[in-house]
Amino acid sequence: MPNYTRRQILSASAITIAAGPLALLSQRAAVAADAAKLDPNDPQALALSYVHESAKPQNICGNCQLYTGDAAAWGPCAIFPGKQVATAGWCSAWVKKSG
Ligand code: SF4
Repeated sequence: MPNYTRRQILSASAITIAAGPLALLSQRAAVAADAAKLDPNDPQALALSYVHESAKPQNICGNCQLYTGDAAAWGPCAIFPGKQVATAGWCSAWVKKSG
């Protein structure tokens, strides 16, 4: 059995602890990228008047508080779990992203 110094054990533990959340984020991003695009005719999308192309360029999914994606054309939204919405889209639940 190899003899590890206390420093080596602590260092390895710190790396493992730090890498955990990164692995989860990476996994979430991969799942989000695989999610289906929201159909505007989906009953919930219809109820919230969701459209792929906002009529107001200053009010889009990409700057909505509920959008959790990045600058890609499509990304996840808290209102439509398991689906991707268009960054240029909009729905009546739009809330300006703070900060
Ligand atoms: Fe777009 Fe509506 Fe989701 Fe905001 S709540 S990201 S406007 S679909």
